[in-house]
Amino acid sequence: MTEIIDGNAVASEIRSEISGCVETLTEAGVTPGLATVLMSDDPASETYVSMKQQDCEEVGINGIHVEIEPDAPSEELFETIDRLNDDPEVHGILVQLPVPDHVDKRAVIRAIDPAKDVDGFHPENVGRLVAGDARFKPCTPHGVQKLLEAYEIDTEGADAVVVGRSDIVGKPLANLLIQKAPQGNATTTVCHSRTDDLAAKTSTADIVIAAAGVPELIDGSMLKEGATVIDVGVNRVDADTDKGYKLVGDVDYESAKSVAGAITPVPGGVGPMTRAMLLYNTVAAASDHHDIEIELP
Ligand code: NDP
Repeated sequence: MTEIIDGNAVASEIRSEISGCVETLTEAGVTPGLATVLMSDDPASETYVSMKQQDCEEVGINGIHVEIEPDAPSEELFETIDRLNDDPEVHGILVQLPVPDHVDKRAVIRAIDPAKDVDGFHPENVGRLVAGDARFKPCTPHGVQKLLEAYEIDTEGADAVVVGRSDIVGKPLANLLIQKAPQGNATTTVCHSRTDDLAAKTSTADIVIAAAGVPELIDGSMLKEGATVIDVGVNRVDADTDKGYKLVGDVDYESAKSVAGAITPVPGGVGPMTRAMLLYNTVAAASDHHDIEIELP
């Protein structure tokens, strides 16, 4: 029987534990605050940000939202970040990516105070993660680790293949999997668009994590019997639905499910975990800043 990895259920447990952490902090006089900044009129980005704000409200985090016109000068965004860096009520800052073309994305990431960089994208935080001393683990890779942990999927000594090498998913995930630490110690291969014979890599892996942004790139014929399959991909494809599209992952779910030992669905797999880990990082930032001990899940 293939185990279906239920991201909604694991995320919901984590969120309830985070609510407890928020309570502890609030009793100590600190309400964790997360600022989201949106400089885009892309409907998907708008939806992501509003979900993050809704998540904050649910666990008692103070959500602050700033919108900047997409055609505003980039200085407006940098001034906003400076202001939020200085705001004692803000413990975490998230600038929703992508930013418009006229804004230097790397400069935006560098402008955020590393102690408030709850996405974990600032070079200082990337360096700390690689060095095995992570301050904030980026939300999606951290969420993947938590899913593996919740389903007792042992990474130690496992052959793991990460498909994708982006700064936000593939690279940090591979770095976490190779750490000499719990949910690490995997022998990790990173594949990308120039990988020669992807199937040869995935078909020998104990754990395949797909983060390529290519609909149904990986099917059952590319997997080893009993492999764990974590599908990070979220892709819109045309479909005969009310919206005119449906969401599919980077894995062909039906064929992969018939081979895999455990698999995440899309939606309902990694997505809810990404959202939960943002709350986790925000609470961790508040606890660190005020030196208040909490028990994070
Ligand atoms: P990027 O587009 O930044 O990176 C995609 C990576 O996949 C690149 O490294 C690219 O290689 C590689 N790739 C592309 N095509 C292939 C291919 N045919 N074979 C092997 N590798 C390939 O995407 P992200 O990392 O930002 O996101 C990946 C997916 O995950 C997307 O569908 C995104 O929507 C989703 N996502 C989901 C989240 C969630 O919470 N569920 C959170 C974040 C992302 P190269 O470097 O050579 O170009």
